[in-house]
This record gives sequence, C-alpha cells and structure tokens, in this order.
Amino acid sequence: MISDFSQSELLRYSKQILLPQVGIDGQRKLKQASVLIIGVGGLGSPISLYLAAAGIGRIGIVDPDRVSLSNLQRQVLYSFNTVGEMKVEAAKQRLTGLNSCCQIDIFPVAFTSENAKEIAEGFDILVDGTDNLTTRYLINDLCVRTARPFVFGAIQGFDGQMALFDSRIGPCYRCVFGSPPPSDHIPLPADSGVFGVLAGLVGLLQAAEILKIILGIGETLGGKLVLINSLTAEFDHIEVLKDPSCPVCGENSEIKART
Ligand SMILES: [Zn+2]
Repeated sequence: MISDFSQSELLRYSKQILLPQVGIDGQRKLKQASVLIIGVGGLGSPISLYLAAAGIGRIGIVDPDRVSLSNLQRQVLYSFNTVGEMKVEAAKQRLTGLNSCCQIDIFPVAFTSENAKEIAEGFDILVDGTDNLTTRYLINDLCVRTARPFVFGAIQGFDGQMALFDSRIGPCYRCVFGSPPPSDHIPLPADSGVFGVLAGLVGLLQAAEILKIILGIGETLGGKLVLINSLTAEFDHIEVLKDPSCPVCGENSEIKART
C-alpha cells in the first residue's frame, strides 16, 4: 500500500526506499515521525536539513535568537541574506524550500521549565542542539519523565560528544554527567571557539541516530558515549552505565517524584 505517498514523494525518496532496511514501510515511519530540535545553530542546522531531506513528517524547531554574521561559519541553514532574521523563521523557509512535504513548527522562544512540556507535547524524539547546560538538563529530565529518547550532541574547540540517552534502555544524561553546576559556573560557549566542520560531524551523527531509532535499524547508541576528535579523525566509544542513585531516573528519583 503506497497510496499515502504522491508520485513526487516516491521519486524524491526513491534512493532511500531502495534500501532494503528502509523500503516503503520505513519511509512511512519517517513520514509519521515527529522530532523536536532544541536550538537551530551549528548542530541543529545539519540535523534539521538532513531530517527534512529524509522525509520526517513533522519537525519542531526552538530557538530565541536571530541570525548573526558570526553564525555563518558553521550554521549552514543560514545565508548572508538571512542575517538579522529570527533563526526559526529563516530555518523554516530553508527547510520548507528543501521539502514542502515536511511540516515545520517553529517556536521563537527559549526552551524553559515553564514552556518545555507544552512545546514538546506530541513529539516522538527530542534533540539537543543547544549550547547551554541548563537547557540540556531540562531536555534530559523531560525525556526521562515522558519516556522519550534524547539525542545529545555537544561541541567545543575541535572535540565533540554525541549520545543517545533513553532511560528505558540505559543511562540518562544525569547518570553520566551528574547534576548541573551552579548556574554562575556554567561556561559560556559563546566565548570559546569551535571548528565549523565539527558541528556537521556531530550533528550528522545525531541525525543518523534519529533516523535509526525511527526506522528500528542498526545498533542504537544507548549506553555509549561517542567522543570525536576532529584533529585526528578518531572516534571513541565509551560505555556508560545507569546510576541507580540518579536523581531523575534512579530507583528513588526525587525529581521524578516531584513532577
Ligand atoms: Zn539517570
């Protein structure tokens, strides 16, 4: 039964549908899937572009910022002509131009404890494209409480990290990284440099993980942290374990109990 795809869609996705691991059933799963990307900067750019290209049915993008000239070195969603525009507006235009079959929902706001639950309502998978720890912990805790996968990525300098945190099958972010430091001790990535192509490397690993989760193919990264060194082209996999005393996903979770 392929009548739920137009001829144009079948042609657009033909190379993907030809993959036996995808096929028309897999393409239908992608069309029915929804992904929320929190932060459309260096990581969110390649993630959203490749998810839209692959035919994800609904993509939500959350970002309160405007495009600046200094973003263009790595945030490939944007062009010189969009400098000064709201990122979510410019991103929606670019993604819709790439694939008008993909519904793009935009949230031109910061993702906070006040609005997170409402914004994330109805999305299957949450993705971290942010550059701040407070938001990262918020995404993690929300995913644990609502039993959804959290696809994490982080970049700094020439080094990147990427992981799938799903507390149903493995550790959550807090199990691995502990509780957040006091807010005045959180480093400001805006003050440090980043190798532009690293955003592409890490973002595309995140996009691949999302597609694998939706399609149910390959080996997911649950329980592993991937470390990427873009200077040596080395990828290391570190096994990470669930912490039984984790305050959010552990046996006697205080945070889970509170919410
Ligand atoms: Zn945990």
